[in-house]
Amino acid sequence: MLNIVLFGPPGAGKGTQSDSLISKYNLVHLSTGDIFRFNIKGATELGLMAKSFIDKGELVPDSVTIKMLQTEVLKNSDANGFIFDGFPRTNAQADALDGFLSQMNTSISVMLSLDVNEEELKNRLLKRAEVSGRADDADESIIKNRIAVYNAETAPVKDFYAAQNKLISIDGHGSITDITNRLFKAIDSL
Ligand code: ADP
Repeated sequence: MLNIVLFGPPGAGKGTQSDSLISKYNLVHLSTGDIFRFNIKGATELGLMAKSFIDKGELVPDSVTIKMLQTEVLKNSDANGFIFDGFPRTNAQADALDGFLSQMNTSISVMLSLDVNEEELKNRLLKRAEVSGRADDADESIIKNRIAVYNAETAPVKDFYAAQNKLISIDGHGSITDITNRLFKAIDSL
């Protein structure tokens, strides 16, 4: 299996780049943000709970997120591989992911980390807000909190994969196609 963690701060382009990767490598795309938003739209119990955190720019608690992700992985156990987008966002999530992938006799192949500077991130999120209708993109103080949470809780997940020799950093500036080509090159070099 080819199992990719696509990593980066909010607005780095994970969702956009996932589209190209899933079709080229025939992977199942699991975006925790998308799954939460689907549940919010359907007003499920999970959605209502997640919304209270997402609207503040906080992380949804690990226990909830891990259980939800594991369910999705198990549903797709015959997949060619996965692209994890927006997960893991804490070291506890990374640890849990290693645990349940090893139960399936597989593991993470690589973490591809998109590097984008903060000014560019803010601009992209505010621009996305104009079309996405996402409340967490429209408010500058919420964006600021999401970036702060990323720096405090999520950025350390890079060290988790670096310690396993699985981290590849990718320059996330430039055109969508340029970045896609950098990702393809990194994957093809594995
Ligand atoms: P972005 O990467 O643009 O911030 P996402 O769509 O990945 O957006 O996530 C939106 C929100 O959903 C996050 O700000 C967070 O509140 C919640 N969320 C998504 N993934 C996770 C996760 N793995 N753990 C905890 N919360 C998460």
